[in-house]
Amino acid sequence: MPTCDERRWDGETDLLVIGAGAGGMTAALVGTLEGLQVVLCEKSDCVGGTTATSAGSVWIPGSRQSEAAGTPDSTGAAKNYLAGLLGDASDERLAAYLASGPVVLDYLESRSSVIFSPPPVHPDYHDLPGAAVGGRALGAVSFDGRLLGTDFARVRPPRREFMVLGGMMVGKNDIAPLVAPFRTWSNFRHVIGLIARHARDRLGFKRGTRLIMGNALVARLLHDLRRLAIDIRFHTALKELIKSGDQIVGAVLTTPTGEIALRARKGVVLATGGIGWSTELRERLLPEGTRRYSLSPDTNTGDGILAGERISGEIDRNLDSAALWMPSSVMTQPDGHLSVFPHIMLDRAKPGLLAVDASGRRFVNEANSYHDFVQGMLRSNRSPASVPSHLVCDRRFIADYGIGLVHPGTRNLRRFIEAGYLFEATSIAGLAAAIGADGDALCRTIERYNRYAEAGVDEEFGRGASALNRFNGDAQNKPNPCLRPIGPGPYYAVAVWPADLASSAGLRTDSRGRVLGSGGAPLKGLYAAGADAASLFRGTYPGPGTMIGPAMVFAWRAAMDAAGALDNYPIAMD
Ligand SMILES: Cc1cc2nc3c(=O)[nH]c(=O)nc-3n(C[C@H](O)[C@H](O)[C@H](O)COP(=O)(O)OP(=O)(O)OC[C@H]3O[C@@H](n4cnc5c(N)ncnc54)[C@H](O)[C@@H]3O)c2cc1C
Repeated sequence: MPTCDERRWDGETDLLVIGAGAGGMTAALVGTLEGLQVVLCEKSDCVGGTTATSAGSVWIPGSRQSEAAGTPDSTGAAKNYLAGLLGDASDERLAAYLASGPVVLDYLESRSSVIFSPPPVHPDYHDLPGAAVGGRALGAVSFDGRLLGTDFARVRPPRREFMVLGGMMVGKNDIAPLVAPFRTWSNFRHVIGLIARHARDRLGFKRGTRLIMGNALVARLLHDLRRLAIDIRFHTALKELIKSGDQIVGAVLTTPTGEIALRARKGVVLATGGIGWSTELRERLLPEGTRRYSLSPDTNTGDGILAGERISGEIDRNLDSAALWMPSSVMTQPDGHLSVFPHIMLDRAKPGLLAVDASGRRFVNEANSYHDFVQGMLRSNRSPASVPSHLVCDRRFIADYGIGLVHPGTRNLRRFIEAGYLFEATSIAGLAAAIGADGDALCRTIERYNRYAEAGVDEEFGRGASALNRFNGDAQNKPNPCLRPIGPGPYYAVAVWPADLASSAGLRTDSRGRVLGSGGAPLKGLYAAGADAASLFRGTYPGPGTMIGPAMVFAWRAAMDAAGALDNYPIAMD
C-alpha cells in the first residue's frame, strides 16, 4: 500500500462518505450541516441502496414525535426490553444510541426535510418486559417524488414485487382498499385517488411519484443533499483506504475515467451496506443454506467491510446471528427477472397458514418476526431439512390473503403453478408428494393445526399469542386472529428460503461510530455506519427499524465527531 507521502492526491475534502444508503446519506447531510465539506461516493447510478427498497422504519425509543402523536414511549422501558433480549444492555454504544436517537430525530426535523411519524401500532418483535406496541418504531413521512425534478430518476426504485400497475408503490394502508375497492365508500375513494395520481404520474415519469416507506426516506435525504449542493459522485466506488501512520487519510476510488485518490482531512465514513453479495464474506460469515439469496442490491458487495479489514479493522463475530433474515419465495418471471419475494407480514401470520419442513412437520411459530422464522428454520435444519420450508394453505386463504407473489383474490393461479412457484393438489397427501414431504405426517400436522384453530390456542408454538402475531393476523378472525382450520382442498404450498435483509456481522465500532482495530483502539479517521458496522443489537432483531435507526443515529454521531461537535451532546451513563 503506498504511503500518504508518496501519493499524488487528485482532490480533497473534509469528510469522504462511501455509499449512499441511509447511513451514508445521513452522514453526508449532517457533515454538511455542521460545516464540513463533504464528498459522497456512490458505486451505482442511483442513491438509496437497500434502504430505498425497505419499509423505511426507524426504531427510536422515547421520541418527542411519539409523545406528540399520543403514543409515548421511554428510553428506560426500551433499555429494560433490551436487557431482557440481550441479557445485558449496559454497553456504551447502546447508551449512546438511546440517548442520541430522539436528538437525531429532532435535529433532522428542524434542519432538513427528513421527518418521521409513528403509526399508532407497530409492535416490538418479542413479548418481553418493556416491549412497545406502538410509539417506538417510526416511519418516514411520504414524499412527492416530483419535487426532485430530474433527480427523481436517481432514487433507487422499490423492489418490483412491491409495486403494482407498472410502478405504483403500495403501503400497508393501501392493501385492504385495493383488495376490496367496493366494500366501503372510503375504500373506493382511496383507490380512485391512488389510480388517478398514478395515471397522471405515468404521463411524465417511469414510475409512480407517490413515495412511501424507504423510498420516501431516501428521496427526502436526496432532496436535502441537493438543496445543500453536496458533491455526490455516481459510478464512483471505494477501492482501497489510504493510511498514513496510524491515521486513515483518504481513499482510492474507481471512477468512470479511472482511479483517483481523494484526501479526507476529517475522516472517511464507510456505509456500503454490509456483506451483501460478497461471495468471500458470505462463505466466511453466513451459515450454510443461507448463502444463495440476498435482498441487497447487486452493488452491495462487502466493499466497506473488506477495505476496513485490510487496514486492521475487525469484524465482530460474537453475535447471535451474522445476518438478519427474511423467509423469501423465488420465481423466475416470463421476462427472465428473478423475483425474490420477502414474506414480511402479508401472509405468514394470517389465519389458515402453516409452515412445514421436509418431513411435513411444523418447526416454528410462523407468525413471529421474519428473522425469528428463519432462525427457527436454521435451528431445525438438520434431518429433516427445513431449508427450504413450505408455507401451506387452502384455496380460501389465497382468496382472502394471497400468498407471496400471488395477490389476494387471484383467480387464475395457472402461471404460478406452471412456473413451479405454487404447488397445488386436491388432497393433503397429494400436496405432500408434490413438495417431497411425508403424506401421513402432513395429514397429522394439519389435523393438529385444525384442532388448535378450533380451540384458538396453538399448543405447540403459541401462534397468535404475542402482540406482534395478533397485529399481523386478521382481527376479524375469532377466537385467534392467526388460526383458522385448513378447509377443503385444493391445497397449496410455496417454498421459502432464507435471504439476508441486512448483515449483522460488520466492523466493530465504538459509540462515536469509529472503527475499532484489532487491539480494540479506534482507527483514527475511519468511521462505519449502517450495515458496515456490527449490529448494535448483537445479531438479534428487537423490533421494526432496528437497522435503519442505528444506521442514521451512528451516521449522525460519526459526522458530528468528525466535525468536532459530538461532545456538545453528552451521554448520561447509568
Ligand atoms: C425488504 C426489506 C425491508 C426492510 N425494512 C427495514 C425497515 O423498515 N427498517 C430497518 O431498520 N431496516 C429495514 N431493512 C434493512 C435495511 O434496509 C438495511 O439494513 C439498511 O437500509 C442498510 O443501510 P445502509 O446505509 O447500511 O446500506 P444501503 O442502504 O444498502 O446503501 C449502501 C450503498 O452503498 C453503495 N456501495 C456499495 N459498495 C460501494 C463502494 N465500494 N463504493 C461506493 N458505494 C458503494 C451501494 O450501491 C448502496 O447504494 C429492510 C431490508 C429489506 C430488504
